[in-house]
Amino acid sequence: MSDGSTGRRGCAPSDPWQLSYEGFDPAEEGIREVLCAVGNGYLVSRAAAPESRADGVHYPGTYLAGCYDRAASVVGGRTVENEDLINCPNWLPLTFRPEGGDWFAGPATTEKLELDLRRGVLARRALVVDEHGRRTRLTQRRIASQAQPHLLALETELVPENWSGRLEVRCALDADVSNTGVARYQGLASRHLAPDGEGADADGTLWLQVAAAGSPLRIALAARTRAHRAGAPLPAARTDEIREGLAAQVLVLDATQGSPVTVEKTVAVYTSRDPAIGAPLRAARALVTQAPGFDQLVRDHALRWTELWRRCRIDADFDGIGTLRLHLFHLLQTYSEHSVDLDVGIPARGLHGEAYRGHVFWDELFVLQLLNLRFPELARAVLRYRHRRLDAARQAARAIGLRGAMYPWQSASDGREESQQLHLNPLSGRWLPDHSHLQRHVGSAVAYNVWQHYQATGDVDFLATTGAEMLMEIARFWSSKAVYDPPRERYSIRGVLGPDEYHDAYPWSDRPGLDDNAYTNVLASWVLARALDAVDALPGYRREELLERLGLDRGELDRWQEVGRRLHVPFHDGVLSQFDGYERLAELDWAAYHRRYADLRRLDRILEAEGDTVNHYKASKQADVLMLFYLFSAREVRDLLRRLGYRAGHELLRRTTDYYLRRTVHGSTLSAVVHAWVLTRTDRRASWRFFRDALAGDLVDVQGGTTAEGIHLGAMAGTVDLLQRCYTGLEIRQDALWLAPRLPSAIGRVELDLRYRGHWGISLSVDRRTVTISLRESTQEPIRVGLRGSSTTVRPGESHRFSL
Ligand code: BGC
Repeated sequence: MSDGSTGRRGCAPSDPWQLSYEGFDPAEEGIREVLCAVGNGYLVSRAAAPESRADGVHYPGTYLAGCYDRAASVVGGRTVENEDLINCPNWLPLTFRPEGGDWFAGPATTEKLELDLRRGVLARRALVVDEHGRRTRLTQRRIASQAQPHLLALETELVPENWSGRLEVRCALDADVSNTGVARYQGLASRHLAPDGEGADADGTLWLQVAAAGSPLRIALAARTRAHRAGAPLPAARTDEIREGLAAQVLVLDATQGSPVTVEKTVAVYTSRDPAIGAPLRAARALVTQAPGFDQLVRDHALRWTELWRRCRIDADFDGIGTLRLHLFHLLQTYSEHSVDLDVGIPARGLHGEAYRGHVFWDELFVLQLLNLRFPELARAVLRYRHRRLDAARQAARAIGLRGAMYPWQSASDGREESQQLHLNPLSGRWLPDHSHLQRHVGSAVAYNVWQHYQATGDVDFLATTGAEMLMEIARFWSSKAVYDPPRERYSIRGVLGPDEYHDAYPWSDRPGLDDNAYTNVLASWVLARALDAVDALPGYRREELLERLGLDRGELDRWQEVGRRLHVPFHDGVLSQFDGYERLAELDWAAYHRRYADLRRLDRILEAEGDTVNHYKASKQADVLMLFYLFSAREVRDLLRRLGYRAGHELLRRTTDYYLRRTVHGSTLSAVVHAWVLTRTDRRASWRFFRDALAGDLVDVQGGTTAEGIHLGAMAGTVDLLQRCYTGLEIRQDALWLAPRLPSAIGRVELDLRYRGHWGISLSVDRRTVTISLRESTQEPIRVGLRGSSTTVRPGESHRFSL
C-alpha cells in the first residue's frame, strides 16, 4: 500500500488490501503498532511484538471500549482529576528459547509485518538467531475476533533451521501495566489497575483479574495455550508461574530441525461492564475453554470481515484506495456491531493509544455521516451514547445558570466535562490553563448528527424516542446562552471558543473565551430552526408528551425563532469574521516564522515558548469559519445568513476560503479534510492536495509523532466521506438522494454501495460522463434520485443512468 504522497514508509505499493513493513526501525515502531493494531469494536490491541515490554520503543497496549478509570494527579502545584481509557492487562506475552539459550526479547534478525485488511489478520515473519548461532524461523498470526469479540488469538509457528532439541515457550497474562503511552502525560497518575486474583487451572488455563483503582470496574482474562505439530497435538511439559499480577507458564517441547512447531494462545476478555454475563472471570474461563482452534477462529473472523467489506464497498481508480481501506478498517475496528450495546461514543484517537485519554470530542461529526449511509445502527448507537448523557449535559448547563443541555467538549464515562484543566507545553515546559472546554459548539455537532441521521434513515422512531429530545435541549441551551445586545439589536453568544482552539481569549481581556464565533452562531441558528422542524416532524402524541415533559411552551418556541433569526454574525474585509473583534488582531509575520521553523502546526506552543501568545494574531490552528462550508453547501450557508438578515453574495465562499487558508497552520488532522471538502467548490487542485494530505495523515504520521499515540479517527473517516459524499456530490434533500459529481482529475471512477432509508444495496457508480444508480431486487420501495435540477424515481431491481 502506498500513501501516494511522500512514499516515506516501507509499504508494499502493489496490494491495496495489505499494509506491510520490512525490517525493524525503533523510531517507527509506535506508528506500526498503531497502524497494524487488531480490534473489533469491543477492544483494540496494538501490534506490539509479543516478546516486547513497554520500554520506550514498544508499547503493548490493549484498550477496551468504554473502560475508563479516574485518578487524581498533582501538576503545576494543583491537584487535577483525569479519566483515562485504561491500558488493560497485556494478553500478548509470548517468547521462546532453544535449550540453554536466552529468552528471545527482540529485535529479530529479519522481520516483516503484514496486515491483511481483507481478513483482519496480522502476520509477522521473522528470523531469530540466538547467541549460539541457532536460527529459528518465527511466523506469528494474530486476530481480535470480529465473530466473537471477547476472543483474541495469537498463533506462533517456530521452525528450527539448524538445530534440534528442547524448545521452551513462555506465555503470560500480565497485569503489570500502566498508562505511559504519551510522554506529555508523564507527570500524571498512570497506574489504574490493581491485581485482583490470578492462577492456573488444572487444564492449563491461565487466568487473571484486575480491579480499576478509581472505579468499580473489573477486567478478567483467561488464556489457553496448545501446542501441535502438523495438526497433531504435541505433548508438552508445563510449568506454571503465578505471582501477584502475573499468570505465566512455560511449555517444554521437543523440536526437530526443519519441522514446524505451532503454539496457539487464545485469550478471552470480559469486564464487569459487559452485558449478558454473570461474573467476568467466570465468563472468560468458560469462553476460552470452548473456543475453537486458531484456524477455525480465523475462518469465522474472516467471514465477518467479508460481510463488513461488502457493506462498505468503495472503489475508485486511484493509488490511494488502499489507504482509504486502511482508514475504514480502523474505523470498523474501533466501532462495530460489538460496540452497540457497550454505551460508548467515538473516541477521537480510536482505541489505539492513549492520546486525549480515549475521550470523545466533536470528531463524531466527521464519522457519523459516513456511518449513516453504511451502518446506520452504529451511528444510532453513538447518538444513544449522547442521549444517555443528556442529564449530565443538562446539569452542566444548570451549573452555569443556563437552561437546556450543554454537552462537554471532552466526554468519557458519565458525560461530565473531562477536558483537562492544565496542559503542558513541551517546548517551554510550562503547564498552562486549558480553556478548550469553552468549545460549546460540540453540542451543535450532536444536534447536527441527530438531524442528519434522521434525514439519512427517515427513522421517525429514533427522532421521537432519542433525537428530538436532544435537539430541543441543545436548542434551548443556545436560546438561553444568547444575550440581547440592544445597540446592535441582535443576540450574542459570548465567552466561547470556536473549532480553532488556538484563540482562547482576546489579547486585551483577562477573561477566557471569545464573542460571537461565526461558526458557533450560524450553527446555533441552524439548530434552533431544526429543533422547531423536529417539533413539527414528531407524531402528534409524542410531540405533546415531549413539550409537556420539557416544559416547552409557545413563548419559548417563539424565542427560538427570534434568537435563531437575530444572532450576530461578524464580518470584516468582505469575509465572515472568525469572531467578533477578529479584525483587531495583528498579522503574523508568516515569512519570518516559516524561515525560523520548519513546522508551524504547533504555532501556539512556539509563540508561548517565545513569551508571546497566538491570541495576538490572525492565525488559526484549523478550519473554523470554513467548517460552515464543510457542513453546508454554499447555497445553504447563504440561506442561513439571509435568514439571519445578512446579505451574502456568491463571492463570500471564495473570499472567505482564501482569507483563512492563508492564515491556517492545520495543527489538527481534521483541517485537511475540511479544506479538501470546501475547496472542491473553488479550487479542485488544492482540494486534491488537501485530500492527499489527509490521506497521508497517519500513514506517514504527518504530525511527526502523534500517530504512535493513536489514530486520528475523524480524519480517517473524513477521507472516506470525501470520496463517498463530497466528490460524488451526494446530498439528501427533499426526501431524495441528490448527486452533483465533482471528481478530482486523478479519479476517473467511484463505485460504492449505500444504505438509505431502510434500503440495502443501493449501488452508485460515478465516472466522468455518467452517474448510475441501481437498486437491488431486495429493496422494498422506490427512491427518488436527482442530479442537479431534475429528479426521477428508481424502483427495486432497476438502474438509472444520468448523463453528465
Ligand atoms: C482538535 C480538535 C479535535 C481533537 C481530537 C484537537 O487537536 O483541535 O478539533 O476534536 O484534536 O481529535
